[in-house]
Amino acid sequence: MAYKKFAPRKKFCRFCASKDIDLNYKNVEMLRDFITDRGKIIARRITGNCARHQRALTKEIKRARQMALIYYTATHSTDVRKRTT
Ligand SMILES: [Zn+2]
Repeated sequence: MAYKKFAPRKKFCRFCASKDIDLNYKNVEMLRDFITDRGKIIARRITGNCARHQRALTKEIKRARQMALIYYTATHSTDVRKRTT
């Protein structure tokens, strides 16, 4: 099993670096960068987010899930993905 699934890159909090990013559940394209293809939220140590923004991000992802903007699991992902991209 590959431990390092993601290519190593410079880590920084994307939201601190750029104030233009709209940290909002409606910004699904952005949220999708922080979830795996199985719908899991990617851990902070991988994304490099700071604690504050990771917390805010998690909240928005969960909100987006409730609004059915992103999916909970891979099982019912296919058609949702086609529709929103
Ligand atoms: Zn930050």
